[in-house]
Amino acid sequence: MRTPEPPVAVIGAGIVGLSTAHALRERGIEVRVYEQGVPGNGQSGGQSRIFRHAHDDPRMVAAAARSRQVYDEWAAQLGIEAVSDDGAVAIGPSVEERLPLLEDAGIDARRIDARELAARIPLLAGYDGPAMLDERGGSIRTTAVITALAESLGDRLVADEVLSVRHVDGEVEVRSGGRTDRYPHVVVCAGRDTPRLVRDLGLTLPVEQAAHVRLTFAVEGEPPPVLATLQDSSGAFGETGVYAAAVPGHGAYAVGLSQTTGVRDDASLLAPDELADLADRAARYVGRALPGLDPDPIDVRHCWVTRLPWGDDGLAVWQADGVLVPAGHNLFKQAPGLGRALADAVAGEGLADDLRPEARLGAS
Ligand SMILES: Cc1cc2nc3c(=O)[nH]c(=O)nc-3n(C[C@H](O)[C@H](O)[C@H](O)COP(=O)(O)OP(=O)(O)OC[C@H]3O[C@@H](n4cnc5c(N)ncnc54)[C@H](O)[C@@H]3O)c2cc1C
Repeated sequence: MRTPEPPVAVIGAGIVGLSTAHALRERGIEVRVYEQGVPGNGQSGGQSRIFRHAHDDPRMVAAAARSRQVYDEWAAQLGIEAVSDDGAVAIGPSVEERLPLLEDAGIDARRIDARELAARIPLLAGYDGPAMLDERGGSIRTTAVITALAESLGDRLVADEVLSVRHVDGEVEVRSGGRTDRYPHVVVCAGRDTPRLVRDLGLTLPVEQAAHVRLTFAVEGEPPPVLATLQDSSGAFGETGVYAAAVPGHGAYAVGLSQTTGVRDDASLLAPDELADLADRAARYVGRALPGLDPDPIDVRHCWVTRLPWGDDGLAVWQADGVLVPAGHNLFKQAPGLGRALADAVAGEGLADDLRPEARLGAS
């Protein structure tokens, strides 16, 4: 007898696809997940990400709070530490803009002085400008989260590349390297590949692609017991857009400039030297700002950025008869809540208004 197809296909096993598949299964909806490579090795690759509530858009603050709650649930369900309890620190003028939004939303965040800053990030050089702490922020344990979610899928996760997604006879056909299947619902979570895959559905996503680099530096001496994440907009150390997150065990800190380098439509780099320049600038920043680190990097993460035109934290979901298409950037922190919202939509509860493209969620 032929095994009945699951009603939903998810394309891509990065954090967004895995979160969506998990949320669907929590609702009792079966799923097949297509992944062309190693789960979590695309934009979701590497050992850490920042979880922060601070955003320019208050709706994004609320969305982050929902995701933080789901991360707690996963930690209990999957037996992992999902987000460290070290906190998320921001320094510089962004504090004045973002702290009031956090306070309005009831997020546990407050201004901190130089002494508390040094206790939260013992690797940082002296700084006594504006600083704030988001108590429930921290470093996302990306590898633990991805591994646990991918393993929980068992043979629902198929190693195959999807070539096309199109409407056929009222269903959605998915053609991959080794199979052709039809589903009532498909969720396309293919990261950088998403715009290409949904073009046959009549969707043109306004995703701007770019390339980015982040370096990891070893801590000199004993790893500190507490190591908050950092967002530095201060310029005090020669850069105005720097972020950093700790790896598990606090033996290393991953540091990147928020700047990216442009790519052409075929994804070739417009200026290949710029990636090397960004890496050098990150290393020089570490030399000035983070004397607790060895400024010779021990690891590098190059990746694609898929940004929406209205902001670095922009997020939206497009729809086309049975197909849901999330897109945006800085999605690791938002993925658990986004996955639940996508599962709600598949289950017939409708897509949250904030996630529709016209809502421009996450606008700067
Ligand atoms: C260095 C770096 C630092 C970052 N820092 C932060 C941060 O601090 N906080 C934060 O929240 N976010 C951060 N981000 C962004 C965040 O990591 C990404 O937004 C998020 O991981 C995107 O997940 P995704 O599932 O959408 O995409 P991906 O992880 O790229 O997943 C897409 C998957 O789809 C698969 N796929 C693609 N095409 C096909 C196909 N045709 N068939 C089958 N499979 C396919 C790919 O192989 C891939 O595994 C950072 C990103 C990088 C790279």
